[in-house]
Amino acid sequence: MIKRIKKALEFKKDNINSLLISCEELHFYVKLPGSKKESFVTCVGNLWRCDCEDFTGRGLHKEGSFLCKHILAVLFYLAKEFEKTP
Ligand SMILES: [Zn+2]
Repeated sequence: MIKRIKKALEFKKDNINSLLISCEELHFYVKLPGSKKESFVTCVGNLWRCDCEDFTGRGLHKEGSFLCKHILAVLFYLAKEFEKTP
């Protein structure tokens, strides 16, 4: 988990593309730093999902029990954004 949090902190603002931010739904494209690979992250009904291998391999066993580095990166991104504009 700590390793994944550290990896998520490597994502910069430019790596995250927000498509939709509303009270009910969040949609993001998250690009791996130094790579062209993009993952699609959503939060619908308080449930975070990602289409990466890490999440689809482990996250779907018990929904909501796993946060991949992309989801964490989005959370850190949102924390910074909301800090700027409360
Ligand atoms: Zn992911």
